Amino acid sequence: MTHSDYNETASLADSVRAAGLKVTAPRLAVLGMLQNAAHSSAEDVLASVRSKLPSTSVQAVYGVLAAFTSAGLVRRTDPAGSPALFECRVGDNHHHILCVRCGDLKDVTCVIGAAPCLTPSDTSGFTVIAAEVTFTGICASCQLQPALEESA
Ligand SMILES: [Zn+2]
Ligand SMILES: [Zn+2]
Repeated sequence: MTHSDYNETASLADSVRAAGLKVTAPRLAVLGMLQNAAHSSAEDVLASVRSKLPSTSVQAVYGVLAAFTSAGLVRRTDPAGSPALFECRVGDNHHHILCVRCGDLKDVTCVIGAAPCLTPSDTSGFTVIAAEVTFTGICASCQLQPALEESA
């Protein structure tokens, strides 16, 4: 283990502990992966964790993601028609934009830190806590490709 690997592992362990969770090898692997690859599906996370810890079960990875999500360490986004995606960028009220062709998802920064950043016309008496918006569109690389329907 190099010195920088050691530092990275130590700060991951601190984050897990700060969220009130016990530090385990799968938890460190999941968090480390998500810090380098935002908006990963559970399947992406599983593949990455298994490259380091081959005996990790699907259930273990889902369990870690659920624990991280409820502890506020990880944010889960459920874009329509795509698997749930996980990221470490939490608590800043950011939104997402989803490419309807390739499923690529990117962050959209709105009014950072000021939640909610959108004003609904009618809240039915609710007190609004946050706004979570998924914009849909066609990403830059898909715009360069002719649409399948058009080229067929
Ligand atoms: Zn695309
Ligand atoms: Zn995001």
